Amino acid sequence: MKAGVIHAKEDIRYEEIETPVPGKGQVKIKVKYTGICGSDVPRVNGDACHFFPNVLGHEFSGIVTETGEGVTALKPGDRVAGVPLVPCMKCEDCQRGDYSLCRHYSFIGSREFGSFAEYVVVPEKNAVPFEDSVSLEQGAFFEPATVALHGLQRVPYEGGKTVAVLGGGTIGMFVMQWAKIFGAKEAVVFDIADERLELGRRLGASAGINTLEPDFMQKAMDLTRGKGFDYVFETAGNTVTMKMAFQLAANKAHVCFVGTPTKELAFSVAEWENMNRKEFTLTGSWMSYSAPFPGKEWELTAHYFKTGDLKFDDSFLFKKIPLSKIAEAFEMYKTPGLVKGKLLIDSEG
Ligand SMILES: [Zn+2]
Ligand SMILES: [Zn+2]
Repeated sequence: MKAGVIHAKEDIRYEEIETPVPGKGQVKIKVKYTGICGSDVPRVNGDACHFFPNVLGHEFSGIVTETGEGVTALKPGDRVAGVPLVPCMKCEDCQRGDYSLCRHYSFIGSREFGSFAEYVVVPEKNAVPFEDSVSLEQGAFFEPATVALHGLQRVPYEGGKTVAVLGGGTIGMFVMQWAKIFGAKEAVVFDIADERLELGRRLGASAGINTLEPDFMQKAMDLTRGKGFDYVFETAGNTVTMKMAFQLAANKAHVCFVGTPTKELAFSVAEWENMNRKEFTLTGSWMSYSAPFPGKEWELTAHYFKTGDLKFDDSFLFKKIPLSKIAEAFEMYKTPGLVKGKLLIDSEG
């Protein structure tokens, strides 16, 4: 089969490799689309790849073509979304169902061969079936949708309350939609780009606030009659929004950091003291798994994609590039700001 094989830093080649064969409990998937994840970029353009040669790609959709011995939940022809984490299932964290915290895990598309290829073989549980009415493009967006839902599961989430979502990227848009699905009274998106705020409103946000406007904090507070938000989800991993989360929180709020931080962060005494004075609860969120594996995150994403309550917007998608041009795709990330939204690799292209 053909695959995008990484041989060294900045050396990813479209070439022939052996087609994998499903073993016991595994399924073989004919890959259609794989999203390039933020974490893939330093694996190709930097030094983050675990070994060479390697085949990356972990946010994927495709069709089951073959099942190994003992597979019962899937059959050839099923449309599936890939679940990249392969937890050890033995450690204390796994036994508690906290699979994201496992330290003895494998990961499809970094620690073992992934889906920048025509075929990928994964354990049965690492393929989540979805309905024909859900497109294969959308199927490649399961992972961000599940990451967003895991954030909600990290707090004692209740409907009828106010929610602030900081960052209007794909994860932020999914967090906002989950908040609405589970009954938020108000779900407000904060971003610096008006088109993201507009998209948020189109997907059901009660308001969008541009944080470049000087009076944005006043506007935000007015929306909650000066109280602040009951839940604050930070999805940008940006130092500015991380501090903003402390300001926007209401008394006794729950603040959850979903975004991956990329820079050192310093708080002034007054900023930090928000947590004392408001007695809010601060937590973080990592990946998207719960018991039974792979978890509610995946089951509910399949369900709400089917019902259409969890909406997918074409603007989530930046471009589709055929597998044969994978090197050019990674080249695009060298121009800052060029890639806006998700770049999908088409394994049939
Ligand atoms: Zn990823
Ligand atoms: Zn484990």
